Amino acid sequence: MRAKIICPVFAAFAAAAFAEPAFKVETDYAAAPQCEAFAKQAKTIAEEWYPKINEILFGKDRPLPVPVVHLKFEPMKGVAHATNDGIHISADWITKHPEDKGMVVHELTHVVQDYKGKGEFWLTEGIADYVRYERYEPGTQKWKLTEKSSYKQGYGIAGAFLAWIEKNKNADIIRKLNAACRDGSYKREMFKELCGADTDALWAEYMKTQTK
Ligand SMILES: [Zn+2]
Repeated sequence: MRAKIICPVFAAFAAAAFAEPAFKVETDYAAAPQCEAFAKQAKTIAEEWYPKINEILFGKDRPLPVPVVHLKFEPMKGVAHATNDGIHISADWITKHPEDKGMVVHELTHVVQDYKGKGEFWLTEGIADYVRYERYEPGTQKWKLTEKSSYKQGYGIAGAFLAWIEKNKNADIIRKLNAACRDGSYKREMFKELCGADTDALWAEYMKTQTK
């Protein structure tokens, strides 16, 4: 039997090569060529934020969920939606709102979450907007809260509520909720276990701090 000799120079080179980002972001704007400039910016944002979002939600050691993230621009209704390996973005929306880069981060969060319908609507959307407004573009939004406002609306209001819980009640709340939504063990009682109060009581306390 012949002994295997590993060249140390090659081994070092190979290690460096494998240390390259373990993913690719691919854009497709063939059906909407007017989106080219936005698509290029969105690609840069996704290359930076895909691994960041994965770390925010799951911690440092978790492998990225898919090796290639697809950003597809096309004529369609609505704004955008995520699949398990990418985002479909409305060409019309981009034409009217070329500044809306945060939407890419929101949808990318759904790719990383991949809850497959587990969890709760308000929480899934709240975590996506937590990543968008609290991490990607902090300080850009002030949500108007009224008596009728509720975390159950999801999106930015739920995102701001989660950020308040993280700051004041439990610093690990986002990762714990995310992990539970991902593996299907999420129950709303988790808030009581992790924060000492249920969501309605936490919301009432949050509202008091916002209307002072
Ligand atoms: Zn969403």
